[in-house]
Amino acid sequence: MGESGADLGNAAPLIRAELKAHVSRCVEAEGKALFPGPKSLMVRSSGARVERAMAVYGKIHQVADFVARSVSKGKAPFTHEIIEMLKAMSAVQESNALITLAVQTGDGLRVVYEGLFLSLIVPQHKHVRVLVRSVTEEGKKLRKFLKSLVNNGQAAFVESGDYDYWRISPGNVKAISSYFETLTGLAKTEEDVRGGHPRYFSGAVREAALAEFERNKKWCAGVNRPRHKVDLREDRIAFDHILPWSRGGGSSASNIQVLCEACDLQKRATASGNAA
Ligand SMILES: [Zn+2]
Repeated sequence: MGESGADLGNAAPLIRAELKAHVSRCVEAEGKALFPGPKSLMVRSSGARVERAMAVYGKIHQVADFVARSVSKGKAPFTHEIIEMLKAMSAVQESNALITLAVQTGDGLRVVYEGLFLSLIVPQHKHVRVLVRSVTEEGKKLRKFLKSLVNNGQAAFVESGDYDYWRISPGNVKAISSYFETLTGLAKTEEDVRGGHPRYFSGAVREAALAEFERNKKWCAGVNRPRHKVDLREDRIAFDHILPWSRGGGSSASNIQVLCEACDLQKRATASGNAA
């Protein structure tokens, strides 16, 4: 394991190897099907640099747990804050079926809300950068929240455009997950559980499906022709039950696929009954 207080800048190859080993163990323990993809996490070192710890497999909270053990909390309080934020976001994803997360190479934490890209959260070495696609309704709400942080001196506005950039200081990173915790999830009813099986995919299953979808170049799994890719920055996606839940399909990793909105609507329209 990494030495307590080790500079991640020098220790990066070791951390990377340890992270891979750790995540491989998680894969063995929890099953391969759920964790098929490459992921990474931006990590604040105890020095001034930001390093990217590579994981071959892993859920967000597992990556966060590993980093928590590998990097000195005492010497890198900002790292600790990022980890806490990631864990909180992971919990949000589990409790709110409308929110799906993705952590990938060269990126930060992406937040998809109701199938639409909402925000990219990128830990940097003196602040967290939050990019918001503010043309959507949820984006406008998030922008309003970030403005309130600016008014309180907890964040700075950087740039406007199709995507607005904000900077949040280390001490206020928790505000990000706190915001997502306030968002309303799906109103689940008793009818959404059949024979003990829930209708909605768990956060971990959605997260893994989104990661696999991106790794496979974002080809839509729908039947509409010609075969097409999905632009996650512009198009809405749907997490579809391959065998519809209404026809006995479960909500496990083996029965999920990502569709573009058009193919999802098409499938719902052609299936008898509720195909969701
Ligand atoms: Zn499609």
